[in-house]
Amino acid sequence: MKALVLDTNEWENTKGMKLLDVPPPELDEVRCPEDANKCIIKPLYTGFCGSDKGIWFRHAFKDMIFDSIHQEAKSYRICGHELLGEIVETGSYAKSHYGYKPGDIVATESHIFCGRCHQCKIGDAHVCSDHLIIGISTDGCFAEQVKLPAKELWPTDLDKIRPEVAAIQEPLGNAVHACSRVDLRGKTVAIFGCGTIGLFTVLVARAMGATTIIGIDPDKNNLKIAEELGLDSSLHIPLNRTQNPTPSPDLEIAEKIRQQCFGEGVDVAFEMSGSNQALNTAIASTRAGGDIILFGISSGDYTLTDFQNIILLGKSMHSVVGRKVFQTWYIASNLLMSQGHSLQDKIYEVILNRGVGTLFPFKDFNPTEFEKAITSHPKIVLKYD
Ligand SMILES: [Zn+2]
Ligand SMILES: [Zn+2]
Repeated sequence: MKALVLDTNEWENTKGMKLLDVPPPELDEVRCPEDANKCIIKPLYTGFCGSDKGIWFRHAFKDMIFDSIHQEAKSYRICGHELLGEIVETGSYAKSHYGYKPGDIVATESHIFCGRCHQCKIGDAHVCSDHLIIGISTDGCFAEQVKLPAKELWPTDLDKIRPEVAAIQEPLGNAVHACSRVDLRGKTVAIFGCGTIGLFTVLVARAMGATTIIGIDPDKNNLKIAEELGLDSSLHIPLNRTQNPTPSPDLEIAEKIRQQCFGEGVDVAFEMSGSNQALNTAIASTRAGGDIILFGISSGDYTLTDFQNIILLGKSMHSVVGRKVFQTWYIASNLLMSQGHSLQDKIYEVILNRGVGTLFPFKDFNPTEFEKAITSHPKIVLKYD
């Protein structure tokens, strides 16, 4: 079968992914008893994630990919984890216990949780201490078939959610998880970083009751898309100010945000950029007693400026990783299926630009065109047939 892979003989001085012919996955319960729990799925649409972009340009996930590939004694990793697909074959337990059958339409949680560790046992599977990530530490869905555990699958109703949007429930889930950390009803909100998840956060925060939503980004195109999605106001940070590596907050931005919120600051700030300065600006822009939601990451140390005032002003910080399995998926589905929130229309029409320049056929994969698209649109979807 065809698969879009990272060839692990290549990393330094290379970029991109290769369309290769590789053996298809199979269910063999005699040789691998755990295959009983699995399904073979034929992807219909898949989303290209920011983490895939990190692999494409070789600045993320090297160790996780190479270490896991060594254990499997292979030379490539099939990438991709944002999936909408059709089940074509089920293991015996996937069928008898989960009721899956060929023809069922499913999406998948991308973190394969172990189900045995302490966190899994107490209902915190999103921070499982022994998990695999599809498309990074185990083979993914940029392929004509993918084998996945039945327990990770999320049945999806294509009469209610259009397939291009159903394929990106997983990254939407990051925004849903972030917006579920604190009560947003009637609240003022600032979103630092209007990349893909920041854009989803505009929609989800609004649907969950946020009244004023302010977007902050150095990229004018990101802000333009965020405005189309319903931002109340946008603050552009001149690029020369973000190139300055100081962790100190941008006091001009913080003051502009305070002015829009009773002179006090927002109730909730979302840090979705991974910038140390943005984190401190987010904290400075939040009112006393407010909440800061941490989602953006970079490796290395961060500095918290004016630390004592985080405590003295009673500001709370909450980190968000992945999605709650499956509470987040349930809320994301309800939001997409709700006529009142027109979330899926806005995702399709604005974030996916109605498919123009964002929808690519998997079979005729053209790396040059594809690379242009992933650097100029917030979300790209691959279509299979
Ligand atoms: Zn993703
Ligand atoms: Zn676990």
